[in-house]
Amino acid sequence: MPIAVHRTFRRPGDLRRTRVRYLHVLAEDGPHAREQALCRQPMTDTRASYATVLDPMPAVPPNGLAWCPPCTGLLAYELGALRDIAATFAPTPSATTPGREMPMKALTVKQPWAWAIMNGKPIENRGWTTRHRGELAIHAGKAWALDGEDSPLVRAAWLAAGHALTDLNRRNPLFHLGQVVAVADLTGICTTRDARTDCGCGRWAFPGACHWQLADLQALPEPVPHRGAQSLWPLHPEIAGAVRAQLATQAGPDQRNAGRPARGDRPSLNPEPEIP
Ligand SMILES: [Zn+2]
Repeated sequence: MPIAVHRTFRRPGDLRRTRVRYLHVLAEDGPHAREQALCRQPMTDTRASYATVLDPMPAVPPNGLAWCPPCTGLLAYELGALRDIAATFAPTPSATTPGREMPMKALTVKQPWAWAIMNGKPIENRGWTTRHRGELAIHAGKAWALDGEDSPLVRAAWLAAGHALTDLNRRNPLFHLGQVVAVADLTGICTTRDARTDCGCGRWAFPGACHWQLADLQALPEPVPHRGAQSLWPLHPEIAGAVRAQLATQAGPDQRNAGRPARGDRPSLNPEPEIP
């Protein structure tokens, strides 16, 4: 538990008494442990001032004092609390201004389905829909989907990519597990869910599911490890930063798909009207 400290000038007439404004946090390690504050203010100038130690640390500084900003900042850093503090003070993103300030949303997709998305599957089937549109990080989950392994569509895509069916298993390092692998543009969601009518979403769209329509898939050259989550989840800002940095290095819109194989036979997205 950190210890609070401030300087005390004991002589009543000492003008320096009035200049003591800050309650500091005592350095507890390093060459000057217990002799100076985290902000490096000396606390042991015994000629005139004495260190007054407040232990345990008070929640509110005593009368007339305020927390020393460098000390509290450094303490927050030491405690690893900066992330929470930053989250508290970060401006609340406005729902009406999509773009940079919105946290990047991610969807966890089990392998080998995530691989299929990376290789031309333009539809993600989900039992639910969302109002979110635009940037969507694709997170390859840690779990392996046997229904994906058994899917004739996945198998056909796997063979078309020049692999052997015996390599279609979770031990194959081609299948990134527990990593953000790409960013796509979620352009719409087809909620027809009617098996009797052809909604036009193509062969990857399963009857009865909501068809999430993905476009402009950008594969990350270096997938970013991250644990997944249920539903649509916000990428941690640090992870989103690492992801965006990779997208930024992929020059220009013409180069966006440079990291993925060219697929002339990729079915085009169906621009059907979106049902909210
Ligand atoms: Zn559809």
